[in-house]
Amino acid sequence: MVLLFTYGLIFAFGVAMGSFFNVVAHRLPRQKSIVKLSSHCPHCEMPIPWKYKIPIISYLVLKGRCSNCGHPISWHYPVVELVSGLLTVILFHRFGWSGEFLFYLIFTYGLIVITVIDLQEMIIPNSVLLVMLGMGVVVNVIFGVQNWQNALVGMGVATIGLLGIGVLGKILFGREALGMGDVKLGSVAGFFLGGHMIIYAIFFSFFVAFFAIVFMLVLSRLQRRDSIPFGPFMAIAMVSFLLWGNSLIQWYWGLFS
Ligand SMILES: [Zn+2]
Repeated sequence: MVLLFTYGLIFAFGVAMGSFFNVVAHRLPRQKSIVKLSSHCPHCEMPIPWKYKIPIISYLVLKGRCSNCGHPISWHYPVVELVSGLLTVILFHRFGWSGEFLFYLIFTYGLIVITVIDLQEMIIPNSVLLVMLGMGVVVNVIFGVQNWQNALVGMGVATIGLLGIGVLGKILFGREALGMGDVKLGSVAGFFLGGHMIIYAIFFSFFVAFFAIVFMLVLSRLQRRDSIPFGPFMAIAMVSFLLWGNSLIQWYWGLFS
């Protein structure tokens, strides 16, 4: 019973953080203050009354529309809240009250913010990467989660690997396939995952991207020359490796034996 209550609180915390990430992802690229917490309807600018600020539930109650102007509210909002809540619970279940929980929570939360911004704006802001890395370093100093050498090797390997893949992609396809934002994201992810895991995770991001793109082409949701952000695929791969890295590595080698 107590455990269920704890999980409920952890979930609620994650959902509330997701709500905050929605605000950050909406305001950061527009250079608006993220500290001023009164939220407005993006369409009619009407301040949202407190009773409609309950994450997920308000969206369902309002059937996805602004209470003032009836303008549809993007389904991204409740999905980001739900995913944040679920991932927080999964990480807590895995790591309990520990430095690891905090360390990987920072990593995961950063990836969520980056995914939302990259999907909407096709950019990965340096500020988010720096906050992620800075907080990760502080937590690692206090709790010693990640071996420093491994973290540095991870950053180096990811940077060199992704730069190399970027150059190769440009030669093969004659256009920018990877942006510098993707390289920097890989580098920061290398810090959190370490040298061994990051190599597999980067390979897995291309794997995820490949299948997602084929799937979207089949559904004709995508034109062949459309640009798509790579950050979200990396985020999916990184979180997968954070949670199930060893099983995925085993599965991967199983494909060849
Ligand atoms: Zn409105």
